[in-house]
Amino acid sequence: GILSDHPSGEEESQVEITLRPQKLKEYIGQPKIKHELEVYIKAAQSREEALDHVLLYGPPGLGKTTLAMVIANEMGVNIKTTSGPAIEKPGDLVALLNELKPGDVLFVDEIHRLPKVVEEMLYSAMEDYYIDIVIGEGPTAHPVHFPLPPFTLIGATTRAGMLSAPLRDRFGIVEHMNYYTQDELTKIIFRSAKIFHTSIQDEGAHELSLRSRGTPRIANRLLKRVRDFAQVAGKQSIDSAIVKQALSLLQVDDRGLDEIDRKMLLTMINFYHGGPVGLKTIAANIGEETNTIEEMYEPYLLQIGFISRTPRGRLVTPTAYEHLGIEYPTDKN
Ligand code: ADP
Repeated sequence: GILSDHPSGEEESQVEITLRPQKLKEYIGQPKIKHELEVYIKAAQSREEALDHVLLYGPPGLGKTTLAMVIANEMGVNIKTTSGPAIEKPGDLVALLNELKPGDVLFVDEIHRLPKVVEEMLYSAMEDYYIDIVIGEGPTAHPVHFPLPPFTLIGATTRAGMLSAPLRDRFGIVEHMNYYTQDELTKIIFRSAKIFHTSIQDEGAHELSLRSRGTPRIANRLLKRVRDFAQVAGKQSIDSAIVKQALSLLQVDDRGLDEIDRKMLLTMINFYHGGPVGLKTIAANIGEETNTIEEMYEPYLLQIGFISRTPRGRLVTPTAYEHLGIEYPTDKN
């Protein structure tokens, strides 16, 4: 679907690379985070130290990987990128750390999915720049103290609450990434259109920004699709009509909801009287993973006030009923 998380395939990732801003100044939005990072980067540079470890959390596609690369670039250091599930055993972590030069950045996406043994090795690595490993087996096994250069760990996760407290506490800088405003998304769309050598009109960009769920990755993905439609329709420039036409074919509505969002809301309304209903029940009903709903669908629906969370489960709000054109049941007030 249009929301599907990490892009697969060569072409897509190539596009993601070219679309990535290189410097904090080119990084659109997240003003508070940018301002703070500017200060921390300057301070670390003037002390000639590695930047403190950074934890970035927020929904997928908001620019965490991009920001990690921008940070390394601003610090003038190398970045190694990996992900929690890719580091399967302590040896994998040792190999990664071994390649770091003083001040380098190690970026770990989905850091909440690190195996426990690997996570525990990170504690001393982060705090005092060393790891203790055991080499050999049985009677010949012996511990080795392995010093590391000062480095910066940048971790990314969809929710900070998924990290264990000892790991979370070792990050000196913790930043919560917010959904982007329409203005910021419009800027991102114009910037990407320029990189694609595609012309887009103000209203076209505005229309697209409304449907991008506050998420740059989705904005870029929709822009690519709309560009195809415009090209085939023989349009010189993307206008709001072609955006509306393309997105209605893609079943993305004017608030950025796709089939799965609608299925989820309609299931809650039709079978559970609008809730409260548990997340697992919703997931089972629409045939999606609980995790997918919790990380990709629910945060945006909560953000735009279409669902609310209660101790007894999720509720569809009157705003969502109105959006779907369904009357809010009078016995719910
Ligand atoms: P995450 O790591 O949070 O899932 P990414 O960093 O991979 O997200 O960003 C997804 C896409 O959105 C990339 O193509 C990136 O270029 C674009 N993007 C993200 N944030 C910004 C931004 N602030 N300005 C411009 N483009 C952005």
